[in-house]
Amino acid sequence: MGHFTIDDIYRDILPVEPDIGIATIYRTIHLLVDSGILVEHTFGEKKGFYEVNSDQNPEHGHLICTVCGKIVEFQIEHIEMYKERLNQKYDFKIQSHKLEFFGICPACQQK
Ligand SMILES: [Zn+2]
Ligand SMILES: [Zn+2]
Repeated sequence: MGHFTIDDIYRDILPVEPDIGIATIYRTIHLLVDSGILVEHTFGEKKGFYEVNSDQNPEHGHLICTVCGKIVEFQIEHIEMYKERLNQKYDFKIQSHKLEFFGICPACQQK
């Protein structure tokens, strides 16, 4: 499913549910974020990306193209182990993390 914005959802729902208001979608999305079903991302300056939080979609990092905004996911090896180590070393209780790299995607490098 990947990453989507509220506008994406609105566009997809409109043909099926033409009476729906964008406020309803906002409310629903925020409810899903609060209950941990969706995660909200800010990629650089761009806010309001969402993705499903599930076992099928484990924690991962993002490579973000600064030219076209393309987002590539990569799996992070042993992230749980790192978190555990940091928790112990700094007596922290890590709740979440962000791993984002910014650069230029292959297609944009060709331009
Ligand atoms: Zn690009
Ligand atoms: Zn992602």
